[in-house]
Amino acid sequence: ADQIEKSTSQVIMALMKLGIMANINQNIDEDTVVILGSELGVNIVVGKVEEEIVEEGLELFKDQDEDLKSRPPIITVMGHVDHGKTSLLDAIRKTNVTASESGGITQHIGASEVYANGQKIVFLDTPGHEAFTAMRARGAHVTDIAVLVVAADDSVKPQTVEAISHAKAAGVPIIVAINKMDKPGADPTRVKQDLTEHNLLIEEWGGDIICVPVSAKTGEGIDTLLEMILLQAEVLELKANPNRLAMGSVIEARLDKTRGPVATLLVLNGTLQAGMSVVAGTSSGRIKAMTNFKGDAIRKAGPATAVEILGLTEVPEAGDEFNAVKEDKVAREIAENRKSKLREEVMARNSSITLEQLFSQIQEGEVKELNLIIKGDVQGSVGALTQSLEKLKNENVKVKIIHTGVGTVTESDIMLANTSGAIVIAFNVRPSTAITSLAEREKVEIRTYRVIYDAIDEVESAMKGMLDPVF
Ligand code: GDP
Repeated sequence: ADQIEKSTSQVIMALMKLGIMANINQNIDEDTVVILGSELGVNIVVGKVEEEIVEEGLELFKDQDEDLKSRPPIITVMGHVDHGKTSLLDAIRKTNVTASESGGITQHIGASEVYANGQKIVFLDTPGHEAFTAMRARGAHVTDIAVLVVAADDSVKPQTVEAISHAKAAGVPIIVAINKMDKPGADPTRVKQDLTEHNLLIEEWGGDIICVPVSAKTGEGIDTLLEMILLQAEVLELKANPNRLAMGSVIEARLDKTRGPVATLLVLNGTLQAGMSVVAGTSSGRIKAMTNFKGDAIRKAGPATAVEILGLTEVPEAGDEFNAVKEDKVAREIAENRKSKLREEVMARNSSITLEQLFSQIQEGEVKELNLIIKGDVQGSVGALTQSLEKLKNENVKVKIIHTGVGTVTESDIMLANTSGAIVIAFNVRPSTAITSLAEREKVEIRTYRVIYDAIDEVESAMKGMLDPVF
């Protein structure tokens, strides 16, 4: 509240509107902060804080307003399987192929650049919200706008709804492309109606969601879609400072038998230059060769440019942050620091436990208490579950409830579970995707239940070594 110059009651009211009954001492997770920001009309940038940057040995660099230039938007295409995400990306790329290049742009580096009205748009080549969230789980915030593809003859489907939630959780605006308009069964009105049910109200019906009918097959509407993307990007006022050391995210990386580690970097800020030293995740190196998405060698890559580079010592992971640094020595040191930090984290994680492993750990004498965190939709069920579970014990192990709360599973629950070797029981609440991936990374098991008896039964069976394995 202090930082955004709002009163605490304004913040708490806004949280209430989002269905979160928070008090003044409560922590809220990153996704919620971003959504809260948009609710309050402030743009919140999630990223590393200054201390972390300095601690890592990276140079602290603050962009001055006058150095910021507008940059092209970066787009991820999402939607239900078979609704035409891949076809749409292909069709978009085709609009940009000049006659001399035709047939020649099969190069795949993880992102492609197209031009509409002379302005650049960057498309990430791996469609789908899974890739989007996997990147985000590693801290990469690389999408400015999500294009949600919905087939006109099939309308909103489960993965459409998932994609909407993922984009919303990330605070990324959505543009809807109603695809397959060429098909006889196309019913765009139905799509619009179905979208309304998921809180996407399109512009022509008084909402703020841009919606474009397209056909990846005939090419109809593609130009309009690109124009709408540029329009939305203008509203977002995307800016970057080309005159600083480059930073951004690893989009893809692999080991090439002859060329060694090959990585696609998406420059988000600054300008990357061939010959520079970079640190990407826990790998480092001097850029030996740099090519753009067409495979042409380039010397410089400004904001919102994807480049493939050679010269890293190891293969980084998609979603890793990269930074250009002045000296190779610095890059190596930072990479080494990150590695030892990661090793420590992995060591610290070994305390984790799952219900499936519980019995063998009990037998090995490793576990005498089963620590549980209980979260649920209402106080009544949390209370009932707590009381019943607390009573469970046998000669070898007893249940210990270390935390309970009303509401969904939060980051702090996961951290608590991680440090105390606990399992999280989620009753009638669905952990967000960000939390689920955090839990996976931290090796924390979240078990979700809809029936109180099932929760009690499974914990009891696990204690006796009689839990049916889940597949
Ligand atoms: P994805 O799973 O979302 O990537 O979907 P694809 O791009 O693989 O498309 C699934 C199927 O729909 C393929 O058989 C495409 O040829 C077809 N398809 C995609 N777009 C269109 C379109 O605009 N019109 C028609 N008639 N078929 C399409």
